Amino acid sequence: MTATSTCFTDLTGIQIQALVAGLGEPNYRARQVQHWTYQGLALSFDEMTDLPQTFRHRLAQKVQLHGLEPLHEVVGSDGTVKTLFALNDGKTIESTLMSYPTAKGRPRYTICLSTQVGCPIGCPFCATGQQGFERNLTPGEIVDQVLYFARRLRDQIDKADTESDKAAGHISNVVFMGMGEPLANYDAVLQAVEMLNSPQGFGLGARNMVISTAGLIPQIKRLSQEKLQIGLAISLHASDDALRNELVPINKKYPVGQLIAACREYCETSGRRISFEYALFEGINDSVTHARSLARLLAGLNCHVNLIPSNLTDSQGFRPPARGTILAFHRELARLNIACTLRQRRGLDIDAGCGQLRSRLAKTM
Ligand code: SAH
Ligand code: SF4
Repeated sequence: MTATSTCFTDLTGIQIQALVAGLGEPNYRARQVQHWTYQGLALSFDEMTDLPQTFRHRLAQKVQLHGLEPLHEVVGSDGTVKTLFALNDGKTIESTLMSYPTAKGRPRYTICLSTQVGCPIGCPFCATGQQGFERNLTPGEIVDQVLYFARRLRDQIDKADTESDKAAGHISNVVFMGMGEPLANYDAVLQAVEMLNSPQGFGLGARNMVISTAGLIPQIKRLSQEKLQIGLAISLHASDDALRNELVPINKKYPVGQLIAACREYCETSGRRISFEYALFEGINDSVTHARSLARLLAGLNCHVNLIPSNLTDSQGFRPPARGTILAFHRELARLNIACTLRQRRGLDIDAGCGQLRSRLAKTM
């Protein structure tokens, strides 16, 4: 694992105060720098024009402001943006910005964040899992993905010619569903959540964030104690151990029965509803019998099931079922009183759907 140098966005509120105090400046300067970074979306300390020039200069000598460089971007026909970023050590990640129209005409945006370079879980249907694991992202590398897209939206609005184009959309949700297993990088992810949520940081409601996990039981238990309003989604994909061992290999360590017990405990402790993601793979987990056994497993749990027709990756053998099969699965779950929705798939023409993100070499440019 390669160590990366600390960036300003890697620092907690307390660490920012210590940095500023160390440079001999009063405490309110910490709030100013933080405000410029997370609300002003500054790209450099030099933009922070109400700070003394010598202070800006000394800050820049101490730390770099951000830890990501956009390398390449593609925009899909549904408006989904997929960006390839370079990290300080030259490794790369991808993240996406998805827009959703609203009744008022202003779109709302969801950012899908990466938390690791690659992923150690190795699910066979997932492009990230097939790439292997390289390293955890730092808190700053996670938060910087949000700041990048927020800046991109702001600049787009600034450049718009017409009033209707200027009708600003806003970032309403952040989901930890990009590359990597968020709960395998627990501390960095929680620090990023805190900074995204903090009024001194990005100021996004915790209720508007969702962490998705392949099912790491100790971390689910730890999360239930954090008293956060953040949403939790479990990538289930199968309701019995034999099949789930194949689809989500961490199931061999944390089997379905224990996982669901931890989820029941999570709902009780946190008072929150849990989501289950169930990707449908043709001929593998998509029959009405599978739907029935899923309904039996989840009976009585305060939950919601998100059905995701499989997105294609280079992995052979994981194809989306026919429309009729998907609808039959959905109908059966609903008939058995399981709250469920069929996920709207986004960004498919640019390989930006669930499980399609990976660290491409910049040769596509
Ligand atoms: N590692 C975490 C979060 C990132 S993956 C997790 O697994 O939950 C985000 C979601 O995309 C997960 O539900 C994952 O199972 C799903 N996914 C991965 N590959 C997919 C594919 N080819 N088709 C559909 N969903 C996929
Ligand atoms: Fe990792 Fe999630 Fe992909 Fe599985 S689905 S390999 S846990 S990113």
